[in-house]
Amino acid sequence: MRPPLVSAQGIAVACALLAGGASYWVLAERSDTHVADAGFWFEDVKFASPRLGAPVTSAEIETIARVARSELAKAFQGLPITLSDRRDATYRLRVVQRLRDQRLRRDLEIAGESRAVSGFGGQGAVSFDFLASGAVAYAPVNADRASMIEAIGRGIGRSAVHEFTHQFLPTAPIHDSTDAQSYEYQSAARSEQYYGELRWNLAWPLLQRRLN
Ligand SMILES: [Zn+2]
Repeated sequence: MRPPLVSAQGIAVACALLAGGASYWVLAERSDTHVADAGFWFEDVKFASPRLGAPVTSAEIETIARVARSELAKAFQGLPITLSDRRDATYRLRVVQRLRDQRLRRDLEIAGESRAVSGFGGQGAVSFDFLASGAVAYAPVNADRASMIEAIGRGIGRSAVHEFTHQFLPTAPIHDSTDAQSYEYQSAARSEQYYGELRWNLAWPLLQRRLN
């Protein structure tokens, strides 16, 4: 049976794969079986927009991936989670070119989605197209290319935080957060997804209880 779709975040709107062994960028401080094992990686994606100018280069994809990984590490700091690019991790999230809402017949693009079964793991994806378009659309008028590239990484990383939270807490109503500056907020169609800081709302104590 296919696990239920627990999330479809947001309604609106170069390859960074590593060869060889798995790459870890956050290892939990303890090494028991209760450490959540989260794999996050980019599929082969590309992006161009008139405001950005030339298409995103593979070096810029690397920057975007680095920023996204650091957003994940920052958000989950203090929890027993190991973050890597492992495709066989218990909790998995891919960055794909685009995502369509599978719950609707309409051809609607979404920012992210996840499927999970409590205590068994989960899998999901976030959309490069949606989040890169958002980072460019919400950019301040004087934003240069480098700051928009960084914002794409933040947007993807924050969407990844949101989706992993669904996977860790499949039954928690995290969309109840009405704080647009929170990771739990249900839509990625907001400037806070890409610019400024985000904080935790209702999910943090639940994550501490679930994962510790
Ligand atoms: Zn969600």
